[in-house]
Amino acid sequence: MAAVQALKQKLRNSGVTGSTIETEEEKDRKDRARQERQRCKNLKERRLETEKANVTKQEELMNKAREEIEAADRVDDQRITAIRNMQEAREAREGEERRRKEYEKYNKLRKGNLERLERERLEREWEAKLAEAQRQQQAQAEAEAAERGRQEEYEEDSYNSEYACDHGGWWAKVKGRQNCLVCYSVRKFLLECPGCQILACPKCQVGFRPYYE
Ligand SMILES: [Zn+2]
Ligand SMILES: [Zn+2]
Repeated sequence: MAAVQALKQKLRNSGVTGSTIETEEEKDRKDRARQERQRCKNLKERRLETEKANVTKQEELMNKAREEIEAADRVDDQRITAIRNMQEAREAREGEERRRKEYEKYNKLRKGNLERLERERLEREWEAKLAEAQRQQQAQAEAEAAERGRQEEYEEDSYNSEYACDHGGWWAKVKGRQNCLVCYSVRKFLLECPGCQILACPKCQVGFRPYYE
C-alpha cells in the first residue's frame, strides 16, 4: 500500500491531472487487490475447514479410543469379577476342606481320649480289685494270726496250769483213805501241791519235787 501511496504522490507532483489514467489504474489495482483479498479469504476459509475437519476427525478418534477403553474396562471388569468369583469359590472349597480335616482330627483326638479314659478306668478298676483282694487277704491273715495267737495263748495257759508248776513249797496233808492218783496204791492220806493242787502219795510226791530241794 505504501507503494501505491508513493505512486499517487509522484503523479500529483508531476502535475498529471489525468483522472482517466488514475481511474483505469486504480480500477486495475483495486481489482487485483480485491482478487488478492478474495484469494486470501478463500485460502483462509479452506484452511479453517481443513482444521475443522481435522478437529472433528481427532474428536472422532478420541471418542472411538474412549469407547474402546471403556469396552476394554468392561471386559476387564468382567474378567476381574470372574477371577474373584473363582477365587471365592476356591477359598470356600479350601475352607470346607480345612474344616473337614480339623473335624477329622478332632474326632480322632476325641476317640483317642475316650480310649485312653476307658483304659485308665479299667486300670483303676483292676487296681481297686487288686487292692481289695490284698486287703481281704491281709485281713484273713491277721484274723488267722489272731486266732493262732489266741490258740497259743490258750495252750500256754493250759500248759502253765497243768505243767508249769515246779511243785515246790509246802504240800499239805489231805486226810482220808483213798488211792494215790499216780501209783493207785491205797493210802490213809495224800499230799497236795500248793501250786497245782495235784494229789500224790508221799512216795510219788518225791518225784514231783524240784531237784534243788
Ligand atoms: Zn504242783
Ligand atoms: Zn503214789
